[in-house]
Amino acid sequence: MKKIIIIKYGELTTKKDNINFFIKTLRDNITLALEGIEHNNIYDKGRMFIETDCFDEVTNILIKTFGIHEINIGYKIDYTDIEEIGSKLLDLLKDKKFNTFKVETKRSNKNYPSTSMEVNSKLGAFILKNIANVKVDVHNPELEINIEIRYKDIYIYFAKIPGIGGYPVGTLGKGMLMLSGGIDSPVAGYLALKRGIRLECIYFESPPHTSENAKNKVLNLAKVLSEYSGYVKVHVIRFTEIQEAIYKNIPKEYMITIMRRMMYRISEKMAHRNNCKAIINGESVGQVASQTLTSMSVINEVITMPVLRPVACFDKNEIIKLSKSINTYDISIEPYEDCCTIFVPDHPVINPESCKALEYEKLISYEELIKEAIRNVETIKVTPKMQKYSNIL
Ligand code: ATP
Ligand code: MG
Repeated sequence: MKKIIIIKYGELTTKKDNINFFIKTLRDNITLALEGIEHNNIYDKGRMFIETDCFDEVTNILIKTFGIHEINIGYKIDYTDIEEIGSKLLDLLKDKKFNTFKVETKRSNKNYPSTSMEVNSKLGAFILKNIANVKVDVHNPELEINIEIRYKDIYIYFAKIPGIGGYPVGTLGKGMLMLSGGIDSPVAGYLALKRGIRLECIYFESPPHTSENAKNKVLNLAKVLSEYSGYVKVHVIRFTEIQEAIYKNIPKEYMITIMRRMMYRISEKMAHRNNCKAIINGESVGQVASQTLTSMSVINEVITMPVLRPVACFDKNEIIKLSKSINTYDISIEPYEDCCTIFVPDHPVINPESCKALEYEKLISYEELIKEAIRNVETIKVTPKMQKYSNIL
């Protein structure tokens, strides 16, 4: 009997036309995530099987891999008759303590001589005969014994570990996540990854007004996101000159509106350059002055690419809860300043007008400044085990 990890993929089966692409992507993602760990990844119609000696380490990685619906740690035996399955099963049950049980069989090989129901009842009877003081309970058993009869092999497993669900990262293309050091944008990124979107991130920094610590905080957030996708690229944009030009020239109440329009323009350009089909950010309706519907529309109108806002309609408490569950919260609340929190006016406009925004923007030669900022981009590929961050270009 060989101990083995069984992977089931859920939502994938609904994507009939693309199924091969989805499976290949999931398999590539698993291979990438398990890099450095000795393993074999075997695909067999509707299932993936991982052979390895590092069960805990591999399982911990698989539970963070999108596209996986369920993980089972089980045992593979050669194709054989019910008596032989029963005797192998007794071996496995030797160390297990249980009073009630149920046998659940799935027979994908319809040529097997017994139906699933017959296997259930024969193995059930076999266990009752050979193990003292146990009973069958089909509704609420202490031990569920799962048998899968496939074409070449038979699998036995007990525990079912829920997978994270979603689509394999990359199956829906790439998106550019505006990643700040706040609570919202890493959660937005996580939700986009879950829908199968591979992320590139853009971070706007304003040295010397923002520090190296603030940048490292963002890279640490990207590192957490990379655990769900193998790696994440972060493009760091020096925003200092643009922010200073805004500060010097733009009426105070429009500073934030225009700053965000600049961020959108740069994000869209960077998205095009890197083959991303959408921008993703952590905006949440009503959270701050720049996130009223009027503000969002005046900011959004400077670009044409779709903007996904996965947390747009979440309460802050819901976002916080999610950020704790994905382990970004503790990093997000580290107290380093963000470029949005410097030069903040007391009364930013809540209902900006686009004609005014356009008029004010003429006061700065922003196209040149944007070009320069993009020319100086620093790109860092962040991976889950990375210790030190450095530019890859
Ligand atoms: P918080 O969790 O405190 O709200 P935040 O990062 O969401 O922090 P907001 O001012 O609400 O900050 O910004 C809205 C969105 O704009 C962010 O979620 C993020 O997607 C984007 N953004 C803000 N600042 C930056 C930045 N410095 N670099 C990249 N994206 C940013
Ligand atoms: Mg926010």
